[in-house]
Amino acid sequence: MSKYKHLFVDLDDTLFDSSSLYDDAIRMAYERLHTFYGELKYKVFYQAFISIRSELKKEFKHQTISHNRAILFEKLLERLDIPFNAELIREMYEAYWFTVNIFIQPFPGVIPTLSKIKNSGIKITAISDGSLLSRLEKIESLRISNLIDYLVTSEEVVFTKPEKPIFNLALEKTGAKKEEILLVGDSFSADITGGEEFGVDTVWFNKKRKRKPNNPKIYPDYRIKKFEELLKILDIE
Ligand SMILES: [Mg+2]
Repeated sequence: MSKYKHLFVDLDDTLFDSSSLYDDAIRMAYERLHTFYGELKYKVFYQAFISIRSELKKEFKHQTISHNRAILFEKLLERLDIPFNAELIREMYEAYWFTVNIFIQPFPGVIPTLSKIKNSGIKITAISDGSLLSRLEKIESLRISNLIDYLVTSEEVVFTKPEKPIFNLALEKTGAKKEEILLVGDSFSADITGGEEFGVDTVWFNKKRKRKPNNPKIYPDYRIKKFEELLKILDIE
């Protein structure tokens, strides 16, 4: 029997591919704006989106607010010299998240693997950076609500991974002991660094075969390239 009684699992790029999804979402937000500003080129919009996103990441380092797309779209209008327009900002925001939730798809193998883990008696806790509402929508759209025992979002503690509060809240919600926890995620800087510094065992889901960042102090306990490989680590047939 596995020593692990709890699986802590990241959402974005661990359960589903986010990159093409967000590209589509940015495109749909652009389409809303483009209806009113026909001259605006997508390339200009996209570049402004990407630079404001990284500015927010820097300005609000490891804080949930850096993920807030309403703030991003508001700043984006300012950047493009478009006068304030509440309806437009809200419509871009809605188009963005609507697109994410329409096209979101779990990676192959994710649902059967989570089902087997759940059926083995291991509790599954989703730990994700972002707002509670947007995480609820993603879980619903992925149709995995019945597989998740607990959800912990960075909004509830202000700070994102790899900061400790989100992991502390997960301990509180689950009542788990650190030695019973296996944490899986794709991000070395958020999931693996966060988990290792917190003191739980980690699995680096490195689907894209990225190189390990040169941090001699942080090593994942396991590395997998397919989500199903978790079953072996958890001693599940
Ligand atoms: Mg991730």
